[in-house]
Amino acid sequence: MSDCIFCKIINGDIPAAKVYEDEHVLAFLDISQVTKGHTLVIPKVHKENIYELTPELAGKVLEVVPKIANSIKAQFDPVGLNLLNNNGEAAGQSVFHYHMHIIPRYGKGDGFG
Ligand code: 5GP
Ligand code: ZN
Repeated sequence: MSDCIFCKIINGDIPAAKVYEDEHVLAFLDISQVTKGHTLVIPKVHKENIYELTPELAGKVLEVVPKIANSIKAQFDPVGLNLLNNNGEAAGQSVFHYHMHIIPRYGKGDGFG
């Protein structure tokens, strides 16, 4: 989708700090990380939200989440980690290209929750 910021990242039209990429999935650091290492995982095909995601594509996204979580764990040594997926404006979605947040946690006062 031409006016989608995440499609622009996929196409290389705007930069992002990529942490993982394969044929189906891209992961990159959130531009305003709520905690150190906050990462977004997206399908390369434009799907607005969970309702549009096929089970196959959901599988592709989830397949890479443990890899990225382990890489974050090795790099930043968080004490916990949240997975978060907002669907719809009322649920806090602000970019309408499906994405899974990976949010490393560092204890009380880490800036999230
Ligand atoms: P949502 O609120 O839709 O669940 O999350 C969207 C996330 O995308 C936000 O955490 C926001 O900081 C991030 N974001 C928005 N625009 C950009 C961008 O241009 N680059 C990157 N890396 N992240 C972005
Ligand atoms: Zn898109």
